[in-house]
Amino acid sequence: MGLTKTFKDGSSPTPELGGTWWSNTCPNVACDVKSIDYAFSFEPNYDWSSSYAGGAEIWDYLRRVARKHHLYDKIRFRTEITHIEWDDGRQKWVLDYINLSTGDQGRYEADIVFAGMGPLRIPKIPKEFEAFEGPKCHTAHAIQVVPGIVNTVKHLDYYQRTASYVVPRRNVPTNALWKFLFRYMPFFHFIVYKLQYWASEYTIAAFSTKLIDRIPRLVMTAMAWLFRRIQIRNTQLRKKLTPKYEMGCRRIVVSSDYYPALARKNVDVHTEEITGVKGNSILLKDGTSQEVDVLVLATGFHVQNILPSRFMIGKDGADVKTSWGTNPQTYYGLTSPETPNMFFLLGPNIGLGHNSVLFMVETQVEYALKAISHMMKHDLTTLEVTSQACRDFADEVDEKMKGMVWSTMCNSWYQNKQGRVTALWWSSCSHY
Ligand SMILES: Cc1cc2nc3c(=O)[nH]c(=O)nc-3n(C[C@H](O)[C@H](O)[C@H](O)COP(=O)(O)OP(=O)(O)OC[C@H]3O[C@@H](n4cnc5c(N)ncnc54)[C@H](O)[C@@H]3O)c2cc1C
Repeated sequence: MGLTKTFKDGSSPTPELGGTWWSNTCPNVACDVKSIDYAFSFEPNYDWSSSYAGGAEIWDYLRRVARKHHLYDKIRFRTEITHIEWDDGRQKWVLDYINLSTGDQGRYEADIVFAGMGPLRIPKIPKEFEAFEGPKCHTAHAIQVVPGIVNTVKHLDYYQRTASYVVPRRNVPTNALWKFLFRYMPFFHFIVYKLQYWASEYTIAAFSTKLIDRIPRLVMTAMAWLFRRIQIRNTQLRKKLTPKYEMGCRRIVVSSDYYPALARKNVDVHTEEITGVKGNSILLKDGTSQEVDVLVLATGFHVQNILPSRFMIGKDGADVKTSWGTNPQTYYGLTSPETPNMFFLLGPNIGLGHNSVLFMVETQVEYALKAISHMMKHDLTTLEVTSQACRDFADEVDEKMKGMVWSTMCNSWYQNKQGRVTALWWSSCSHY
């Protein structure tokens, strides 16, 4: 079936780039923003095979970029940072590491640290599934697996906790003419890239609760309703797949082959709650059980409070996990008072629901480089953000979030336990 047997944690077992696009290998894994925008601005990709590239193709692109910029020589592959601590006296970060291939351990020091540990890296495996004895694998959402396996499996039992809003995805292969034009007329590529960027930017309005902005959301909700009616003819099934919350407050699924896959004869959609597992069977709330060959857990990732305990010790001996708790207060998701000379990439409140996060990463790196230039120019050993600046940023985010659909209408992985949205940026990329 092409499913991975284990849960990969983002680090490749060979000297290769790891990360999201290496570790997520489900048959349908793909970008849900247009590929033209899922590329670095300084490294346009003229060769995307289609408008929404698959995971393997994105991984290839990233490897090409890494090779071109000679990053392979600089990366310490198979090396996990096991502990990182700020040395107040010497104004340096001390990093302990282990080589996962040889088991060798070591330590090195750094003046500046970029912590790009990945916002969606730690699979969320609910406790009740841990004891399953058969093969199991994990993915972020069923969309990444169902359409890719439905033609191969004899039978698929699909257990759904919360229905998603689904909107169409026109995944058009990029033909030779477009590739030619992109490659030999980079300005043309730039225009298409910018048009797509602004088209995605505009959709942020659909997540606002302002009366005027409800119009784009209403249009999108109507589109999702119509799409469901067209693609799912069976009334019972359609009822099961109809979301009961306001559109946008949970992640919107962009797919044209998801509903048709669920409507196939070899698929049963269930809404009963799974309470646990025993051997190769899943146990249901009504007391029955069902034996399965393979368990695919489309249960997403841990997003909140993901630093291990005592992993990152910052200024004045602060354990960053404890200081942040479930409510991290950072300056633009990038720096925090406990962590001088450290820049988090895609830290708290930086995720997006409407555009490519690569724009956010680039913006963060640009900011960090300016900060480092400032340090060099003024011969500073340390740069740290004030607690007040972080509090002001958190207050601003909380205030703005009141006007966004993510904080008001339903529970989702965007929120911490108290309902505060800590995973998303509240506005457009350009605003960031
Ligand atoms: C299935 C899926 C689909 C997605 N689709 C989109 C999309 O369409 N558009 C979009 O904008 N975003 C999407 N995302 C979000 C995606 O995570 C980001 O786009 C991007 O890949 C994040 O890159 P990153 O380098 O920050 O993190 P990652 O790719 O997760 O890389 C983090 C790296 O840090 C390493 N690391 C972590 N801790 C340590 C340590 N202690 N020591 C050493 N190394 C460590 C990890 O091993 C990993 O290699 C998707 C995510 C998933 C999971």
